[in-house]
Amino acid sequence: MLISKHYLRLMTGFLFCSTLLAAQDNRPKNIILFIGDGMGIAQITAGRTVKGKLELERFRDLGLLITHSADNYLTDSAAGATALATGEKTYNGAIGVDVDKKPLKTVLEYAEQAGKATGLISTSSVTHATPASFAAHVDSRKKDNEIAEGMSRSGVDVLIGGGLAYFLPASAEGSKRDDELDLLSRLAKPQQIVRTAEAFRAYSGKEKLVALLADKHMGKADERPLTLKEMTRKAIEILSQDEDGFFLMVEGSQIDWGGHGNDTEYIIMEMVDFDAAVGEGLDFAESNGETLVIVTADHETGGFSLEKGSVAEHKVEKGDFTTNYHTAEMVPLFAAGPSARLLTGIHQNTHVGTVMISLIK
Ligand SMILES: [Zn+2]
Repeated sequence: MLISKHYLRLMTGFLFCSTLLAAQDNRPKNIILFIGDGMGIAQITAGRTVKGKLELERFRDLGLLITHSADNYLTDSAAGATALATGEKTYNGAIGVDVDKKPLKTVLEYAEQAGKATGLISTSSVTHATPASFAAHVDSRKKDNEIAEGMSRSGVDVLIGGGLAYFLPASAEGSKRDDELDLLSRLAKPQQIVRTAEAFRAYSGKEKLVALLADKHMGKADERPLTLKEMTRKAIEILSQDEDGFFLMVEGSQIDWGGHGNDTEYIIMEMVDFDAAVGEGLDFAESNGETLVIVTADHETGGFSLEKGSVAEHKVEKGDFTTNYHTAEMVPLFAAGPSARLLTGIHQNTHVGTVMISLIK
């Protein structure tokens, strides 16, 4: 009896320690979250048809997310991104706030608190719903100026995308602000701010980068001066200098817009650009060994379906759509690296935020 009690205590102690050690071992130093806005299974399949093989096929841990928001069967990108960023469902249009319009702490803010470097990349304005929900707390996605102000106070180290007009004082050319706040100077030093692709490519700073490359949104993939892959590479180069690790969110913003426009070619072009960026993240994660990479979507857009095409000729001949808005279908999730297993299975979209925050806290 005595022996078995002692044995039991020993075993319990051993099990507790090993569980704790395992949990610590599986804590990633870095997290890269890729969000394909409006990216459902058909969008991915269309990209694969044209590209032949996707970087997404390198993942082994997959899951599905249920995307509805707190107030609607069909989520918008604001509620969707807030769920991914904070682990809480909220109403459509909410940027980093709950159903009572109270601020929700985001994974980016938890990362900063843990001493990590942080970054946000989008091909829309950086004040658009998805990136905004990681670094601002505003009751409506339509308030770009308020969102820009919130983001300028967020402490984000790398910010890449469009939206320059919302960060310039009203008196500056091209500004869309109605006040004289100079938000760029809050975000970074002048030498850390670039406005052109040439300056972006030449940039060799190692701490911060604010690259606002369009007044509002960037163009379509074939018009953009930089690929999402190049933006992702530069962000990782800078953020990985931080010895405490980093959190980076990369959005393929315009897969969604191809869906809204019921434009199959647009979807494919954006899907291929996004997938290449995912490959960049995976290459880093594989060489680094301490990075969790997650790829998912906020919702599907267009009720997109593929009705005619050719695998041999790498072409989609007929795509079809049921709507020019979002749908409620579950979206795929891909994960690789430490603790990737926590993301497999079918979950609410809040699960991604909850898991990332628990790994960073
Ligand atoms: Zn949309």
